[in-house]
Amino acid sequence: MSGQPAAGSPSALEVTMLTAVLGGQKVLEIPSLQVFPNEVLVVIGPNGSGKTTLLFCLSLLLKPATGAISYQGVPVADGPSTLRKRRELAVVFQESLLLNTTVQDNVTLGLRLRGVSGEKIRERTQTWLERFGVSALSRRQAKTLSGGEAKRVSLARAFALQPEVLFLDEPFSALDSPTRQALLEDFQTVLRETRVTTVMVTHDRNEALVLADRVAVLMNGRIRQIGRPEEVFSSPVDEEVAGFVEAGNVLHGVLNSQSNGLVSVDIAGRQLQAASNLGAGTRVTVLLNYEDVTLSMPLPQTAPSSARNQLRGKIIRVFPVGSQLKVYLDCGFTLASLITRRSWEELGLEVGREVVASFKASSVHLIAKR
Ligand code: ADP
Repeated sequence: MSGQPAAGSPSALEVTMLTAVLGGQKVLEIPSLQVFPNEVLVVIGPNGSGKTTLLFCLSLLLKPATGAISYQGVPVADGPSTLRKRRELAVVFQESLLLNTTVQDNVTLGLRLRGVSGEKIRERTQTWLERFGVSALSRRQAKTLSGGEAKRVSLARAFALQPEVLFLDEPFSALDSPTRQALLEDFQTVLRETRVTTVMVTHDRNEALVLADRVAVLMNGRIRQIGRPEEVFSSPVDEEVAGFVEAGNVLHGVLNSQSNGLVSVDIAGRQLQAASNLGAGTRVTVLLNYEDVTLSMPLPQTAPSSARNQLRGKIIRVFPVGSQLKVYLDCGFTLASLITRRSWEELGLEVGREVVASFKASSVHLIAKR
């Protein structure tokens, strides 16, 4: 797996017996957590689960109540060594927190404080503002920037520091959807190129799927599951984790054709149509919400439908989810659909029955694998 250290090499970051207390309440209890060199660890969890507190402890902005934190095998002690280590880290917050000066000064200031030489400051500032597509704004006052532009500057500022570990606290949550998508793609490219060791917290499972080498699920201050994103999202350890992470089918496939924004994805020998500009041969994770899969009885001839995807399958399992039913089909691979009890009864469905699962190409969300 990418991000795993060579045998015997220290973790980039490791904590043991970490607890944090806020307002007299224990809000975090982490017996052990390792972050491997060059990996992107994304911590997801509902609001109030302790994500920000964990990020603040790891980045040495908050002193834990108990526990030890080591960077590259060296424990961080109280006092000056904490301060020195903190200067080797960078944190990007939910709010961009830019200083009331020009864009360029926002990037150069941190470098100057860290004693980087003049020539290098200019070079790195230019490189990273360009990399995040905001070099044309370098003389603008930071307070005149849009939310998306400010976020790009705060990311450029963090990368320019060349941190030992990069921390991000819900960095994209305040952005509107198109702005967020564009920035997420640029950020993903930069992470793949630099391979900087990264810890990011978010409540957005899609961000985790796009960015993470490993995902940790934090609930009530405890890590309930940690593993590769596909593993966590498709096999949650228990119902509570499933309730948070599960929103749809997570499948694996390969693109085998591309034509004008419509692709055909091979999943275990069956073909799905999806809207995407990815090229043929790309290995993809396929996300498809349960609600977007409708079921009907097979007809002798294909019934007219706006759904491009119509797969025959057999019902293998069914169980109630709130007022609805989750129906699992064997279509050559396992596909699940969420339907009302009324539909189930009207269609006369039962386990073992053959049905047709339909869904639109636009409902199929593809993520290119690394
Ligand atoms: P998340 O980032 O997952 O939303 P936080 O780390 O912000 O969660 O908070 C974890 C828990 O600690 C929550 O229950 C929150 O209400 C509580 N908490 C956060 N800050 C304080 C504080 N300053 N005093 C008391 N409780 C706090």
